[in-house]
Amino acid sequence: MRIFEETMSIPLNSIPRGVTRETFTIEMSKVPWEIPEAEFNSKEGYLDLEIVRTEYEIIVKGFLEADFLVQCARCLAPVIVPVTADINRMYSWNPDMLSDPEVEPVSHNDGTVCILDPVREAIIFSLPVMPLCTEQCRGLCPSCGINRNIEECEHGFEA
Ligand SMILES: [Zn+2]
Ligand SMILES: [Zn+2]
Repeated sequence: MRIFEETMSIPLNSIPRGVTRETFTIEMSKVPWEIPEAEFNSKEGYLDLEIVRTEYEIIVKGFLEADFLVQCARCLAPVIVPVTADINRMYSWNPDMLSDPEVEPVSHNDGTVCILDPVREAIIFSLPVMPLCTEQCRGLCPSCGINRNIEECEHGFEA
């Protein structure tokens, strides 16, 4: 199989019938992630895919492993989070199947299966809701805004 990192799409003509399992090393900077709450942090990501191709459908299962950078919910410092994003999506070019909202179309323009949206959604789902730089993070002072992990101010501290 082949994968175009610039669009995170797999050309149909590289997907054989039956079950194919392959691990790709993705160059993270090539992918248009456009995830507002996170930036990629690792140079490479590991995309482990199992693709089942039948007459009318393609089922893509697998996961992406990569490090992302988010902000501490209390002090806004950068926090590295290792993400394992699970992907499970069905694609088809059969009009009957496409009436199912769970089934994505295969792009007829370039004959590819685009997995960017499923991977992006899986990453967002895998991110912590309240990322913290440390469990003990004292956060920013609500009155003066200083980082209470680094400095003290006269406004006291209620945990
Ligand atoms: Zn913090
Ligand atoms: Zn203060």
